[in-house]
Amino acid sequence: MIIISGPSGAGKGTLIEGLLARCPGLTVAVSATTRPMRPGEVDGREYHFLDAAEFGRQVDAGEFLEHVVYAGNRYGTLRSEVRRHLDQGRSVVLEIELRGARAVRAAVPDAVSVFIGPPNFEELARRLRARATEADEEIMRRLEESRTELAAMEEFDHRVVNDEVRRATDELIGIVCTETGAEG
Ligand code: 5GP
Repeated sequence: MIIISGPSGAGKGTLIEGLLARCPGLTVAVSATTRPMRPGEVDGREYHFLDAAEFGRQVDAGEFLEHVVYAGNRYGTLRSEVRRHLDQGRSVVLEIELRGARAVRAAVPDAVSVFIGPPNFEELARRLRARATEADEEIMRRLEESRTELAAMEEFDHRVVNDEVRRATDELIGIVCTETGAEG
């Protein structure tokens, strides 16, 4: 299992896309969330979009490997998603924030963790604003979360600075393929 974490706006999604294109044996577990769907997102593809009541019910039923509140919404890794991929012999990538990463590391000690960070805080803020998927208040909440996340990067097995997408993707592929033995 590969945990990929790092602040919102660091470019995790882009680097993971490049990783999956090059390592066919890898797959991303689709998380559940209560946050509103963004334009272009599809239920069951980016996330399983649940309302608060349904998310709560699944928490009570013990269906999450980990779950958190992040910037006012709930997010969680479904045990069923992870199990399904592992049963099919695929290595699973979890794209999750810091507290989730800590919980999974505690539950799955042999998981490999990678932190993806921006070159610096100013660049992170610039990218979040340029992405324009969130309102100002939402961007502020994410930048607030990111300070804690950046302070914790030394906890991870590997760190990749997303200074240039191609270079950073190659570095990520190198790490993950070495750790999983997958073809690059
Ligand atoms: P976004 O709303 O931008 O899709 O995601 C916000 C943050 O939640 C990102 O840092 C993302 O990695 C994280 N996240 C997505 N799914 C999960 C999950 O299942 N568990 C946890 N702990 N974090 C998640």
